[in-house]
Parts: sequence; C-alpha cells; structure tokens
Amino acid sequence: MAISLPSLPYADDALAPHISAHTISFHYGKHHAGYVNNLNGLIEGTDLADASLEQIVMAAEPGGLYNNAAQVWNHTFYWNSMAADGGGEPTGDLAAAINTKFGSFDAFRAEFTTAAVGNFGSGWTWLIKDGDSVAIVKTDDADTPLKHGQHALLTIDVWEHAYYLDYQNARPAYVAAFLDHLVNWNFAAQNFAAA
Ligand code: MN
Repeated sequence: MAISLPSLPYADDALAPHISAHTISFHYGKHHAGYVNNLNGLIEGTDLADASLEQIVMAAEPGGLYNNAAQVWNHTFYWNSMAADGGGEPTGDLAAAINTKFGSFDAFRAEFTTAAVGNFGSGWTWLIKDGDSVAIVKTDDADTPLKHGQHALLTIDVWEHAYYLDYQNARPAYVAAFLDHLVNWNFAAQNFAAA
C-alpha cells in the first residue's frame, strides 16, 4: 500500500497573491510529490511497505527514508496550516494559551517571526502544544516534531523553495504574509483541542 499524495485543501490559486499558483505548482506538484515518490521507492519490498506514514516517520533512522517520510508529513501539515481566508488572531482556548505563554498575541507574533526568519538554512518553524501551554520550536531540514513526541499545532515551511519564486530572498515578507493573510487558526485550534 503506497503512500499517497493528499489533495491540496484548496485550489492552487487560493492563496494568491501571498503564495502564487506558480509557487504551488512547484512546491506541491514537484517537491511534495517528489518526496512521496521517493518514499514509495524506498519502502517498496521492505517491512515498511504497508506501514502508515506516521509509523514510517517513527521507525526510520536518520537518512533518506526519514527525510522523505518526514517531508511528506511536514508538507501535508503545512498546506493545512494555511487557508485562503487565514491570518488574524486565534480565539478560544488556543488564544488563551498563547496569551498566557507570550503575554499577548503581538508578542507571540514577534517571537514566531524572529524564529522563522532566523531558522538558519532549510527547515520549519512550528507552534506546538507543550503540556497545557504552547511553544515555538524550529526544526532543521526534514526534521519534524512528530519524531520527538511533540504535538504540532501549525507550521511554516522556511525552505527557500517555499517562497523564492514569490519573494526571492525576502523571507521576512513571506513570514509576514503567512501570519497576516494565510495562517489557519481554526486548524491550529483543532489540533490544540485534540492533543
Ligand atoms: Mn517545502
């Protein structure tokens, strides 16, 4: 049972102008799909051929198998972390947890921005659940909080392929657009409630 590429949760131009259909065509259609194809090639004929994606992530040693499985998981989570009508501020229990941890939404926003802009090289910046609270964590390359027993709430991909076609080297502008126009707080709140 091969791992499949999930459908995007919106049309390929739904995030424009903040993330263009051109970027989506490469990022989803080439990068994400490529990780799925690589992963299926690596598990074919092995003990993991019928495993779930999460099982593969947890079982894999550092290296190609882990990198491809984690990238499949991370990208699906990233697409769900955005919405066409995203941005703004969270509500409810998640908003309360953020305010308690960071002092205010604006303070959270500043800290998340600093983390994402300063995430050196290729990687991911995450909001995770931490007990009853929340925390911002960064991972390098393909690494994912799932592997470390952490419960992800939302993520931004800060590999250059996520933003270079739309923003060139201006990662801060991409991070600002993510927070102001794209971040899907409903998805994060669902993850917070489910943890
Ligand atoms: Mn990516």
